Amino acid sequence: MNLKSAAYRVLQRNKVRNLVATSVGILRNSRTTPVTDSLISMDQEEQLLKALSSACLNLGISPVEAFRALDIGTLESWQHNEIGDEMLQTFCLAVDIRRNIDQGVRPTQYNKPAYCQGCGPVWLWISGTVTGCPWCWNRATGRPIPRPCMVRCQDCKNFDRIEHPHLGHCSRGQPENIAGLWDEDLRYCEHFLPKPVSASDGQAKPERAK
Ligand code: SF4
Ligand SMILES: [Zn+2]
Repeated sequence: MNLKSAAYRVLQRNKVRNLVATSVGILRNSRTTPVTDSLISMDQEEQLLKALSSACLNLGISPVEAFRALDIGTLESWQHNEIGDEMLQTFCLAVDIRRNIDQGVRPTQYNKPAYCQGCGPVWLWISGTVTGCPWCWNRATGRPIPRPCMVRCQDCKNFDRIEHPHLGHCSRGQPENIAGLWDEDLRYCEHFLPKPVSASDGQAKPERAK
């Protein structure tokens, strides 16, 4: 597969991801086609690292980390002068956000409580309900998801009821009393996963934290 077709495939996949997430999703996708030494001369690499140094100012990532996150399509665009400083800054910001998410840390730009149908209550850059979000990858890999509100175990997929009207245990091994978890108690939980609800039930959104 030549570079053009590889880049085209990356762009196509990115396009699909953009429908459900943000440019942050592109970064995860692009990691499957990393830039290798054969694609860039030493002079260009030096020039690009210099540009990335400026772009990473005030961010929590280094120019080298940003460089490693580049995909070949983006590199080619930069080599053809199709990517300016502003776009590089946006790219580095997206890398920084993605890294925070991977570590289960809320990026400062994600300051609105929202609801993802897969993850439950999440912090996003927009409010409202979405079908997928940048935290979905954490959900798929069992990583924590910071929450904007408290939740109830009774609304969670991970809650295994026992023979008691209100008690159960957490299949994710979250801390609980000797007797187990009380289904209606409000708690802050980064491993909550919303139970599917039928159309007639409406969406069971947890209460907001005080
Ligand atoms: S993951 Fe959290 S909310 Fe879900 S059952 Fe376990 S403790 Fe309760
Ligand atoms: Zn999600």
